[in-house]
Amino acid sequence: MTAPRPHGDQAGRDPERPRIPLICPRCGHEQQVVPGGPDRTVKVVHVGTGREACEPGDLARAPDDGS
Ligand SMILES: [Zn+2]
Repeated sequence: MTAPRPHGDQAGRDPERPRIPLICPRCGHEQQVVPGGPDRTVKVVHVGTGREACEPGDLARAPDDGS
């Protein structure tokens, strides 16, 4: 009996993680993951400012088109 084996090159998980662009749900700016040290945890910061907190100026921009 020869079972049809599906020839699949299932490339499992790549050793290198593709950098997925993170978008801040609050201000909509791009974020990046900053690896921490042995004692520090990984944190996500904004690419522009390099801080975790959003820029108040961007938050003030509410998509509120007066109608
Ligand atoms: Zn933000």
